[in-house]
Amino acid sequence: MRLVKSVAADGVRKFLPAIGKTVCPICQRAITADPHWSEVIVGIVAAIPVLLLFHVDLFQNHKKEAIIGIVIWFAIVTGIITWSHFRYLRSWQRYRAP
Ligand SMILES: [Zn+2]
Repeated sequence: MRLVKSVAADGVRKFLPAIGKTVCPICQRAITADPHWSEVIVGIVAAIPVLLLFHVDLFQNHKKEAIIGIVIWFAIVTGIITWSHFRYLRSWQRYRAP
């Protein structure tokens, strides 16, 4: 396995460039990250319970129930991530041509 590397973008100085571009370690052509749509959705859905956990005071007299609900939500999201990893993400192409 070879790591993806970064080189100076066109027209930028080569040493410590301000703007870089990601290139393929084999053919040196420019590549860009290729996130799967399920990763984007799961990321958003996973962020909500984490945000709620920091604002559990909003639930006033139902904090305990709120925490239980948040934990269940988090467990469901974790399950979805695991399922989607094996269903789509393991074989998903991580990078593509820009
Ligand atoms: Zn390549």
